Amino acid sequence: MNLVLMGLPGAGKGTQAERIVDKYHIPHISTGDMFRAAIKEGTELGVKAKSFMDKGELVPDEVTIGIVRERLSKKDCEDGFLLDGFPRTVPQAESLEAILTDLNKQIDFCVNIQVDKDILMERLTGRRICKNCGATYHLVFNPPANPGVCDRCGGELYQRADDNEETVQNRLEVNIKQTQPLLDFYEQKGYLRTINGQQDINKVFADIENLLEGLSK
Ligand SMILES: [Zn+2]
Repeated sequence: MNLVLMGLPGAGKGTQAERIVDKYHIPHISTGDMFRAAIKEGTELGVKAKSFMDKGELVPDEVTIGIVRERLSKKDCEDGFLLDGFPRTVPQAESLEAILTDLNKQIDFCVNIQVDKDILMERLTGRRICKNCGATYHLVFNPPANPGVCDRCGGELYQRADDNEETVQNRLEVNIKQTQPLLDFYEQKGYLRTINGQQDINKVFADIENLLEGLSK
């Protein structure tokens, strides 16, 4: 079960990733974790990656891809893996194809959790925080009893700058622009499977389970 998981911010990718690795016992391979592990183990590539990160620079593709190769060669990936956050670009996806060919593996599915942009906006801009006690609310999922007022302490609720419409809109647009070519790439390869992320979390996972059913045997 070799999977690439995709989804825009707010699509619920993290939650679904957790459920997939819990149920199918495959390692969850996120770029951040992979870098941290390589650095901790002090591998040659880990040392290289760290030198860029320490300077606040982007880790070059050749280093990232080397780290992915090392990670996917490990024993715990024998029965599958869930890649999350990699690849980010079509050249990275092409490198991944080459790595997997070398390892005599191939991707089964690129699972894309699809949520429309207006719904993502609603999810991502709805957070409100109490100025007084820090309690968090969500206008849609966990609204306070009285608008703008903390249930717990009566404090005033505010919206973080990161959550404002313009910032979220920009973030989403950058992400959409970045991921669309990747989705096209995986569609062409025949790996892309789209899951409706605009449903209850349990229903989203049930759809993923149905998709993976044939692979887990
Ligand atoms: Zn409060």
